[in-house]
Amino acid sequence: MTTLTFDSLNPATGEVVGSHPKQSADAVREAVGRAEQAATWWAGLAPTERRRRLLDYKAVLTQHLKELSGLVHDETGKPVGDATLEIVLAITHLDWAARNAVKVLGRRRVSTGMIGLNLAATLEYLPLGVVGVIGPWNYPVFTPMGSIAYALAAGNAVVFKPSELTPGVGVRLAELFAESVPEQPVFQTVTGLGETGALLAKDPRVKKVAFTGSTATAKRVMAACAENLTPIVAECGGKDAFIVDADADLKAAADACLWGAMSNAGQTCVGVERVYVVDAVYETFMRELSDRVATVKAGEDYGPITMPGQLDIIRRHIDDATKSGKVVTGGPDSVRAPYVDPVIIEDVPEDSPAVREETFGPTITVRRTRDAQQALELANASAYGLAGTIFSGNARRAMELARLMRTGMTAVNSVISFAGVPALPFGGIGDSGFGRIHGADGLREFARPKAISRQRFAMPGMNLTSFSRGPADLERLIRLVTFLHGRRKR
Ligand code: NDP
Repeated sequence: MTTLTFDSLNPATGEVVGSHPKQSADAVREAVGRAEQAATWWAGLAPTERRRRLLDYKAVLTQHLKELSGLVHDETGKPVGDATLEIVLAITHLDWAARNAVKVLGRRRVSTGMIGLNLAATLEYLPLGVVGVIGPWNYPVFTPMGSIAYALAAGNAVVFKPSELTPGVGVRLAELFAESVPEQPVFQTVTGLGETGALLAKDPRVKKVAFTGSTATAKRVMAACAENLTPIVAECGGKDAFIVDADADLKAAADACLWGAMSNAGQTCVGVERVYVVDAVYETFMRELSDRVATVKAGEDYGPITMPGQLDIIRRHIDDATKSGKVVTGGPDSVRAPYVDPVIIEDVPEDSPAVREETFGPTITVRRTRDAQQALELANASAYGLAGTIFSGNARRAMELARLMRTGMTAVNSVISFAGVPALPFGGIGDSGFGRIHGADGLREFARPKAISRQRFAMPGMNLTSFSRGPADLERLIRLVTFLHGRRKR
């Protein structure tokens, strides 16, 4: 029997990078079966042993940094420097997850309160078993590793389905893991198209699915998971706003805005898409932005559009935005497959696709606002709620605005900086999804809280959970609760 295969292509040249099997239902089933056994073995290791192996995996990844960044470059088209950066960030996360798993998840005693005085209460976070990770192509190492590293550190086995555009990277990540953990297939990669991901999500032995991709596909994955009540964590992209307040450092803001919008050809879930600038500094900021964008070149500073089908969406957004908006840089001709030159358009109506829908391209819309408050209101008027940026000279004001931004993450006077802080949870609200990867929340996302209460001695005269309980027991309880909770505070 021949196994069907598919090719991954270099989006810049069209050359075949690698050929991979479209794994069948049987192959996915077998991988999950192997993962189940591996999960039992992995969870049974002493936490220090898991930590040692994960830190070893980190070292193996670091030793293969150049090879891996070359592969990421080949499959996505992004510059090798950007590929290196994403792998370094992933390594940092793996290190944090390995080092902090015991502290975050390990057994601890919790206070029992007066009524449970005779109890000892412990809380710990146990592994789920097999975690299915469905990954994207835009950051094929950093993004899935945000789930994989944390799931492994929490004691789970992982079956990873990489995007069909970046299967080679996915396969290599699992191969390198086997160098550190040769005994059992604790981390496996299954390759294929969307269908392979669907098979993984549908398998009842998968105890959690971590999905990154579009909102529409997240809904399909969630529907498949609903069959077995399998929980999911969904990271579905965004339409992130960048707010420039009156007292901001405008040079720094323009520089950060451009990089946040155009790097990786704008194919970043937390990339800058909508820019709101307060009236008082609008002209100066736009001058800074226009001067700088002239030096940013597609094919040099960033790569091609990785997914050919995205070019039509980018073109549609630009065409629509230029009908009523004012072009600052670029325009419909900026789309020259497989590249898209930088596009900046002012005064695009807030209900147009370029402002409402995710654009996975190097484009931004810019709008003048009365003040930062209006900028915040417009920023928050989005179905998405992933991340955003505030540039302001006043730290207190910036923090206030950041807290009021309806997103999971906000960077102040920097772009995307939260992604490089492993202790910070990553994820969004609304159409951007739910659940968190990274940080302590990311570890707990892949674990189940286990609560144990152990009676240390019988409470004299207050046996409440027995049919032998009498009126006097109840009377004592009422006296106790009145003493503890019965006084009003005004
Ligand atoms: P998808 O959401 O379709 O794909 C994401 C992942 O899900 C891929 O691994 C894909 O596999 C897999 N998949 C597809 N269909 C199913 C299914 N029915 N069941 C289970 N898994 C499935 O995104 P696209 O790659 O098509 O990109 C489209 C848009 O999504 C982008 O333009 C962007 O707007 C957004 N996106 C957001 C990302 C983010 O970082 N949040 C990342 C990637 C995309 P396969 O690749 O084989 O189809």
